[in-house]
Amino acid sequence: MAIETMTAALVAWLAYCAGYCVRYFGVAGALTWLLHGPLRARLLRFRIQREFPSRRSTNGEILWSISNAACTGIVATLSLGAVQGGYTRMYFDVSDHGIAYAALSALVVVLGYDTWFYWQHRLLHTRWMFERVHAVHHRSTNPTPLATFAHHPVETLLGNAYFVLVLLALPMHPLSLAAAGGAIWAIGLVAHLGYELYPRGFVRHPLLGWFNTATHHNLHHTEIGCDYGMWLNCWDRWMGTNHPAYAAVFEAATQRRPEVGRIDLSVAGAEARSASGVGQAAAASAPATAAGA
Ligand SMILES: [Zn+2]
Ligand SMILES: [Zn+2]
Repeated sequence: MAIETMTAALVAWLAYCAGYCVRYFGVAGALTWLLHGPLRARLLRFRIQREFPSRRSTNGEILWSISNAACTGIVATLSLGAVQGGYTRMYFDVSDHGIAYAALSALVVVLGYDTWFYWQHRLLHTRWMFERVHAVHHRSTNPTPLATFAHHPVETLLGNAYFVLVLLALPMHPLSLAAAGGAIWAIGLVAHLGYELYPRGFVRHPLLGWFNTATHHNLHHTEIGCDYGMWLNCWDRWMGTNHPAYAAVFEAATQRRPEVGRIDLSVAGAEARSASGVGQAAAASAPATAAGA
């Protein structure tokens, strides 16, 4: 019986990992290949950094993403056992709570994850955690979509813990959970795109500005001690952790002439910092607090 259970768990883990890799590398891999290959010249003007990442950097993203698949697979397999054993609040008949609840619960999970992510990210940027865990993700200073889940196993487990808590605390339909997971993944892909596709004025817009951009997270990968949020800009605003040059860098990325095809982060940052004494102080402290924010 024990052997049968372990065999079933192993099969479930392998199936999860295979499905994960097909989805992840099918989408993120294809996107990276398209952006850096066939569409490379056509989309140059949208690149946030002029340089393209090295093959070595991208290979590292692939390897750590596989590690993420393996670890997430373990948590998913254990969670499946918990669902089958009736230890979670997952339900399978949509009519139990209605379609509106199914949709709303997915939205709540995405919103909740955004807050979880911000504070998890702040924890990962404490010196101890950064050096031992989160530095893996920051090996990508010029990320591609393949960096989205290129995480150390401890970081993977921290992220997975959120979904385990959701399963235990919230009545969730599997499709709602899948929709929330897909949305969170899509948000991560945009953040690590390496290209800024949003229109000029997006960051300064009174409503749109509450949503983060690819430039926002790209700055996090180059400057490190800032821009911890993923989807919404709320916590970075409230905690004062937006990079002081964020809006200026975004405007530079979206206002430059097409033939320039690049932005110079140091120039854009210097312009913004010179325009703001507060920004100057914050920018000056950012590198020193890179691992201790
Ligand atoms: Zn980070
Ligand atoms: Zn990242």
